[in-house]
Amino acid sequence: RRAPMVPAPTSSTLVVLAGPTAVGKGTVSTYIRENHPEVCLSISATTRAPRPGEVDGVSYYFIDDAEFDRMVEAGEFLEWAVVHNHSRYGTPRAPIEAALAEGRSVLLEIDIQGARQVKASEPSAVLVFLLPPTWDELVRRLIGRGTESAEEQERRLRTARVELAAQGEFDHRVVNTDVQTAAAEVVELMNASGAGTPVA
Ligand code: 5GP
Repeated sequence: RRAPMVPAPTSSTLVVLAGPTAVGKGTVSTYIRENHPEVCLSISATTRAPRPGEVDGVSYYFIDDAEFDRMVEAGEFLEWAVVHNHSRYGTPRAPIEAALAEGRSVLLEIDIQGARQVKASEPSAVLVFLLPPTWDELVRRLIGRGTESAEEQERRLRTARVELAAQGEFDHRVVNTDVQTAAAEVVELMNASGAGTPVA
């Protein structure tokens, strides 16, 4: 079966993609980046350790606590948060401002606390909540990827229940049954909400 056509983004919009652990935020953002290189995918800074295969400057900028403190002090983050109770994650402001100024849309893959902060400072941002088809499917995806310990999986599932309860705060909800369809819906929302300069 052929993948559905995904229309190209036509204007510059700041889109926040949030949702519970293992729902597929990374897969959907990667799919959008690969099919729409004109969309700027924000790279966060984090104090957590890299997982096997994660490359500094690609998945994240892996920085230590002192550097994170310095960036907070200097106002270099659009938002930042402590996630899953142990590591800090933040969105560097400068690359986003540069991309929007060029008329490009920007996609932030961040947690719900971050989404709230972005909406507070940038009311035109579009908040999209990515949902699993069912709770059981979410548990299956988390266990299936096998990147967290059993203890960490439990912690993430507890957080996921709290996060799912916040979906009403978002502008839009997208169910991630398959990546192409979910990505197409996110790009459509990008286009529908954009007020900036059209891009080719
Ligand atoms: P992971 O450790 O699995 O890569 O990410 C854990 C969580 O941190 C995910 O929910 C992810 O969306 C969130 N996250 C990643 N980058 C940022 C960021 O820059 N800001 C905030 N607030 N959350 C982030």
